[in-house]
Amino acid sequence: MNVPAVNLPRIVVIGCGFAGLKFTKRIDSSRFQVVLIDKNNYHTFQPLLYQVASSGLAPDSIVYPIRKIFKGKSNFFFRMAKVEHISTAEKMVHTDIGRIKYDHLVIASGATNNFFGMEQIEKYSMPMKSLTESLDLRSLILQNFEEALNTNDLEERNRLMNFVIVGGGPTGVELAGAISELREHVLPNDYPDLDFRQMQIHIIEAGSRVLGAMSEHASQKASKALDKFGVQVWLDTRVEDYDGDTVQTSKSNFESKTMIWAAGIQGSIPGGLNAAVGRGRRILVDSFNQIEGMDQVYSIGDVAQINSEDYPNGNPMLASVAEQQGAHLARNLNRSLGGRPLQPFVYKDKGTMATIGRNKAVVDLPFWKFSGFFGWLTWMFVHLMLLVDFRSRLVVFVDWVYSYIRYDKGTRLIVRKAGTFKKQDRS
Ligand SMILES: Cc1cc2nc3c(=O)[nH]c(=O)nc-3n(C[C@H](O)[C@H](O)[C@H](O)COP(=O)(O)OP(=O)(O)OC[C@H]3O[C@@H](n4cnc5c(N)ncnc54)[C@H](O)[C@@H]3O)c2cc1C
Repeated sequence: MNVPAVNLPRIVVIGCGFAGLKFTKRIDSSRFQVVLIDKNNYHTFQPLLYQVASSGLAPDSIVYPIRKIFKGKSNFFFRMAKVEHISTAEKMVHTDIGRIKYDHLVIASGATNNFFGMEQIEKYSMPMKSLTESLDLRSLILQNFEEALNTNDLEERNRLMNFVIVGGGPTGVELAGAISELREHVLPNDYPDLDFRQMQIHIIEAGSRVLGAMSEHASQKASKALDKFGVQVWLDTRVEDYDGDTVQTSKSNFESKTMIWAAGIQGSIPGGLNAAVGRGRRILVDSFNQIEGMDQVYSIGDVAQINSEDYPNGNPMLASVAEQQGAHLARNLNRSLGGRPLQPFVYKDKGTMATIGRNKAVVDLPFWKFSGFFGWLTWMFVHLMLLVDFRSRLVVFVDWVYSYIRYDKGTRLIVRKAGTFKKQDRS
């Protein structure tokens, strides 16, 4: 790889998600050369992917060019490349554009979809883990209604107008709320020939409540809101198979052309790394984010798992955890050059939240749990503030205000037809 050799230790960072971005911002690049590698030339704000999929936001309001984020940072090099293989024996990272040697390696490659070995489901369902997947889902939702207009077969029309979301976590709940808003306020105007009383939205959840990782209070409030929005929730129900037309579950079958997979993720580990993994295929690291038995190799964010007394199965896979680990590791490496001892990572829980739709959100803070309109305002404020730059905040804010006042979602565009892409191009 064409990166100049300088007389400084070189840190190679894989991934510019929340963890890699924070790490790279905080590392002292006057004392390290930093080489950041990502397969995309942008950082994705994943919490708002569902709004792209449901035509609420344009894709470029939730992604940022990596080069722009680090403009002016000294001793910093970004390379757009896919990491294929890591050789810790040679201290080398192999990518599709060449290889590069490291002194320190930081693996921040995030998570990917987990279909638990169910090949049919992987083949036919729509995940929503990346920008391209969200855009494909947006196209598919709209294409379904275009097709529904053209069929006289009632069963086929029902399949096209029914949506099954697998997973009642925040992603599933938020997406169901957004699709129900489309059904209520937007689609009937676009497709006056269709009868939207036929359109069904289902959430299939294997556990006994939605938002299982949040409080009982949040779960109950979310269930009530989903019910009000006409979303049908099926608890204690497992999806068993899907052939593109029929979703088979442990309880009953659902006819639908769109099954959205929001039920499982796993660590996205580059090849060649012979590290021990925990639940959800995450790399087991110690409390300094170091991979045991590997010299100067660290892992942070969703792909890493620190087991502790408070979190025996690792910290939750959240943006706030990823950011805190990125900042903490940078601080530790900065300290290490001054000969100061490393500090163990301790997660500071800042709470979790989910929005179900217009005026409805649930917020679990460590000291206070609330919901409703105030929860919704809090959700919007926090998400706006977390966006990377002022321009994105402004664009998203204007889009939200416009949608709120006009009951509209402005990006109902089929740019690339779903079904014409290869699955491996999506992630
Ligand atoms: C739909 C959705 C909604 C979410 N909502 C919330 C929320 O409301 N609140 C919250 O706290 N968290 C939320 N999360 C979780 C949060 O987004 C993740 O915890 C966070 O993104 C983890 O950050 P990360 O840096 O570990 O990984 P990521 O953000 O996933 O970044 C990984 C990076 O690595 C790159 N990469 C991966 N493999 C390679 C490779 N082989 N070569 C080169 N580059 C590679 C990717 O392109 C990516 O840029 C949500 C996630 C999703 C999918």
